[in-house]
Amino acid sequence: MMIVMKARADEAHIQAVIDRIEACGAVAHPSRGAEVTVIGAIGDLEHVAKLELEGAPGVDKVVPILKPYKLASNQLRQGAPTVIEIDGRRIGGEHFSLIAGPCTVESRDQTLTAARAVKDAGASLFRGGVYKPRTSPYAFQGLGDAGLRILAEAKAETGMPIVTELMDARDLEPLIEVVDVIQVGARNMQNYPLLSEIGRTGKPTLLKRGLSSTLEELLMAAEYILKEGNPNVMLCERGIRTFETAYRFTLDLTAVPVLKELTHLPVIVDPSHAAGRRSLVEPLSLAAAAAGADGIIVEVHPAPEEAICDGPQQLYADAFEEYARKVEQAAAIAGKALSTV
Ligand code: PEP
Ligand code: MN
Repeated sequence: MMIVMKARADEAHIQAVIDRIEACGAVAHPSRGAEVTVIGAIGDLEHVAKLELEGAPGVDKVVPILKPYKLASNQLRQGAPTVIEIDGRRIGGEHFSLIAGPCTVESRDQTLTAARAVKDAGASLFRGGVYKPRTSPYAFQGLGDAGLRILAEAKAETGMPIVTELMDARDLEPLIEVVDVIQVGARNMQNYPLLSEIGRTGKPTLLKRGLSSTLEELLMAAEYILKEGNPNVMLCERGIRTFETAYRFTLDLTAVPVLKELTHLPVIVDPSHAAGRRSLVEPLSLAAAAAGADGIIVEVHPAPEEAICDGPQQLYADAFEEYARKVEQAAAIAGKALSTV
């Protein structure tokens, strides 16, 4: 249920409604807009309905939230986009975020060289995996905790916030000390205990769409994180499995405007993992930015031919500046400006 307060409702009215929602065992999620406050009441529908909040002081109306994902739904926020702030960079609304860095942290030198290059080109955040989801158990699995120390060094030197993937909740504690955004990989989109655990941390989270997941499944996965009280969720389209075999995955760019209709959460696009090869990364990035994505997460390496993982799709670090300027122009078509410091 969604309790829409009157424009003149004061804080005491709002608090009284929150108290009544919580007294019946539901959770209140207030969202304070410029004009009115809306309170999502998430819990047992019957209990919430029995509260008969219609007519309570300061309440304008009580309406059902129609979608199965309640907190992620645009209805709850009445068109106000979520804007996530990380160390002065903004993600969502009229801000465009360029998240760049290598697929995998391989060494100190490789990581710091990539970090300096993307920072100089105005990237908003730095990405790099240390726990890697590999199809083969015999492939390099990432540097783990040693990789986290390298990421910490990259952050200390460049000031860029760090995005890295968490696969196992047991790694959460060391990861959270270093990292600013937790990435949930496509293969873990429906790992519900992991999502709930991340929800309890409150850390900004980049949730990637599963290889064969519908947008509704993606939004329901986001709901697991939001439900635990973490509002800082970004969604990421990274390509889905289709019958097409000419490239790695099919980048579903229709997802961008459709998600914008359905949710207030920022939508990021990953052209690298969809394309699987470098020549496709720039055109897909430009299309995503012009389609209204809130950001791009892209793989960049100082020497892709030597990369341990995903070499063919990583952009050359020394060509990144030119790429970034083109993407910035495409984002401007959709009315967004690059968020950097
Ligand atoms: C990644 O971004 O490093 C990654 C493995 O992506 P995905 O989960 O989308 O395959
Ligand atoms: Mn990769």
